[in-house]
Amino acid sequence: MNWHSEEIEKVMKDTDAKPSGLSREAVDIRLVEYGENVLPGKKKKSALLLFLYQFKDFMTLVLIAAAIISGVIGEMIDTVIILVIVFLNAIMGFVQEYRAEKALDALKKLSTPHTTVLRNGIAVNISSTQLVPGDIVLLEAGNLVPADIRLTESFSLRIEESALTGESVAVDKVTTVIKEIDLPLGDRLNMVYKGTVVTNGRGRGIVVATGMNTEIGNIARLLQEPESESPLQIRMADFGKKLSYLILVICILLFAVGLLRGEEPLKMLLVSISLAIAAIPEALPALITIALAKGAKRLVKKKALIRKLPAVETLGSVTYICSDKTGTLTQNKMKVKQVDPVPVKVTMGEHISFLEGSMLLNHDVLKSSDGKWLGDPTEIALVDHLFEKYSETELKNFTDSYKREAELPFDSDRKCMTTIHRFNDQFIAISKGAAESIQSLLKKEEPIEKILQDASDLSKEGMRVLAYGYRILDSIPVPLSYEIIEQDFYFSGLVGMIDPPREEAKAAIAECKTAGIHIVMITGDHPETATAIAREIGILEPGGLVITGKELKLLSEEELDDKVEKIRVYARVSPNQKLDIVRSLQRKKHFVSMTGDGVNDAPSLKASNIGVAMGITGTDVSKEASHMVLMDDNFATIVKAVKEGRRIYDNIRKFVKYIMTCNSAEIWTIFLAPLIGLPIPLLPVHILWINLVTDGLPGLALSSEKAEKHIMQRPPRPSGESLFAQGTGYHVIWVGLLMAFITLSTQAWAIHDKHAHWQTMVFTVLSLSQLGHVFAIRSEREFIYSAGIFSNKPLVVTLLFTFMLQLAVIYVPFANRIFKTEPLSLTELFICVLMSAIVFHAVELEKWVKKRVKKKPA
Ligand code: ADP
Ligand code: MG
Repeated sequence: MNWHSEEIEKVMKDTDAKPSGLSREAVDIRLVEYGENVLPGKKKKSALLLFLYQFKDFMTLVLIAAAIISGVIGEMIDTVIILVIVFLNAIMGFVQEYRAEKALDALKKLSTPHTTVLRNGIAVNISSTQLVPGDIVLLEAGNLVPADIRLTESFSLRIEESALTGESVAVDKVTTVIKEIDLPLGDRLNMVYKGTVVTNGRGRGIVVATGMNTEIGNIARLLQEPESESPLQIRMADFGKKLSYLILVICILLFAVGLLRGEEPLKMLLVSISLAIAAIPEALPALITIALAKGAKRLVKKKALIRKLPAVETLGSVTYICSDKTGTLTQNKMKVKQVDPVPVKVTMGEHISFLEGSMLLNHDVLKSSDGKWLGDPTEIALVDHLFEKYSETELKNFTDSYKREAELPFDSDRKCMTTIHRFNDQFIAISKGAAESIQSLLKKEEPIEKILQDASDLSKEGMRVLAYGYRILDSIPVPLSYEIIEQDFYFSGLVGMIDPPREEAKAAIAECKTAGIHIVMITGDHPETATAIAREIGILEPGGLVITGKELKLLSEEELDDKVEKIRVYARVSPNQKLDIVRSLQRKKHFVSMTGDGVNDAPSLKASNIGVAMGITGTDVSKEASHMVLMDDNFATIVKAVKEGRRIYDNIRKFVKYIMTCNSAEIWTIFLAPLIGLPIPLLPVHILWINLVTDGLPGLALSSEKAEKHIMQRPPRPSGESLFAQGTGYHVIWVGLLMAFITLSTQAWAIHDKHAHWQTMVFTVLSLSQLGHVFAIRSEREFIYSAGIFSNKPLVVTLLFTFMLQLAVIYVPFANRIFKTEPLSLTELFICVLMSAIVFHAVELEKWVKKRVKKKPA
């Protein structure tokens, strides 16, 4: 369609739109007709396919084949049991992967962008998926354009269309009809297209196409982000591969040794393959995803929305948090405290002073349907102040007599904004902004020194200061640009407002200090304002530096690197300087979290290790660029998230440690037995059973473990640290060996003592000692009695359940037949439990030794 060459009225008619927006009923009908406003994403694997996928593993296929062969020539019942267990294993793998995927989907849903539309004459914020043709959409800087839209209003609206046209320079948009029909999309200046970005200004338009009918839908170049894997998952996959080769070699060796000892080849083959399957940790990647997704779910409850799953893991490595001041460290509930007008040569209205009039005219605050103000809190404070002082009709009369004709919107580089109003038969331009910005627009004869001094004095009290200026124009220049308008202004006064710090910020900052995390404040505000607040909440302490954007610009990379670890406050910076800060910290090997809310913050959010966007005040673009969104814009939430991230990582390490230790025990046991002259201790079913039940269930429950006691009193984990650092690797080997030693001792003793039940005992000892192990490594540092025996309910429940299952395998006659077990006498069972308990105590002893060793150097 050539919407760009139609008059607006015609477009309205064709799309059946109304200036006041569609009604609920019309929307419902259209949603059915046109479908939701979405581009279909990557094709999902169906549940069935996901299930079949579980069998694609080569070793599993070999096992199935071997089992069938052995069944044909030997005992069919063995074969059936093995197949059943392999099947159960697949179900478990399927459930895990399915859950992981569902959790990811749910997360994705939470982070779909929203759009402001007019419906029934009221501006409402809806999920962009619910847009239909004919909707009237309001756009502002920072929005992602949600659909294809014919513009009806454009105030300095500028769109970055690279997603569609490849052109990265933003384009100015107009509303006039463009007669030429066959124009490339980039030249249809009165249209904006889905998938592009509003970088500047604001606008309004009629939705002409949604979903797959949009231009971007047509070219089917889907905005697909590759699924990102966390560093841990990548390392795990890599490690898993190497490990499986090692295990294969061991199993081949085992097979050879077995043959040499004269075991039956087919039986030996089954044992070796079962061992390979049990020992290769193929479930770990899915388990890690589940743990991360579960963590993300908990984080949502704490108001931190994770957009990129790996962030859950990497949060724990953060060493620097660079935070915006306004709204993140402060409450963003501004209140005007001081209005200092200066005499001016013109008058506006009768009752209201010129400065107050300027405050009333120059803002973009809107009243919502429920009577609340919507917009920038700084501006809401201005409007609130006036509404407290004057009646609504008085204010309305005033605004009506100075109709707004044009505006140059606020941006945080210029740090000011200008509106142009009808003024008798002329025009008046009113500008407000940071004192330094306004001073540069002023006429030479204005007392600039004094203005800056006054502004600085107010700032010292922690106030955010706005300066005001005006100029009279005979006409509005076309095209409008701030280079032309913003000069030759007269000064009209200062307004100071306070924005109290958030109560929770202080405590969160104190917590970060013990956790080895540095906090830095970044703000567009005056250095004095920033300093006052940074002192109050504990960011700025003696020795900390405050630097302004101007000073920052003068520093070379090396100079910045030298200083960067001492700087605590960056004031009057523009968003693109955040990128320099992130880069410099990263050059100093820091793991940086950066917050941001504007369009221009996107590059620094992307470049940081954890980019954090604001959920309430943040633009779509910043959210899109972020790893995590703060649903409450609150600094303390970042710290909570870091803490949760540390906990989740700890727990991942715990279950990896657990599963790897179990596997190592199984390998040692079965591999060493023939070497020391004992018969192969376990049957394939036993091995598969231990792998399925004993390893799987309690391992999963470890991810519910609560945070370790001193989790925020230890330094951040180095970001590249291996999962097997800090003694985990040794642990896996020595505890595995210990379990094997205990198991084989039991075996040797039982055989020597002519116990008929030696194999059942071996099976039981290996199973139970793993349960003891899982119970001990719940806490890496605390003894279990002090960490709380019942503090992880899911684990206690699974442990009891697994223990009951093991008893069932020993005592239920049917299970005896299947597992070739025999009921143990009470003494034998007691011996098994006793032997297994050794592992638990040994691991507790390891903690004690570690504590002692750690204390010594200090
Ligand atoms: P922050 O990093 O604290 O959010 P901003 O970039 O929003 O800082 O603002 C920087 C400066 O710009 C403020 O100190 C203020 O003087 C000025 N300013 C902020 N909001 C507006 C606005 N809506 N209109 C004009 N000037 C503004
Ligand atoms: Mg701001």
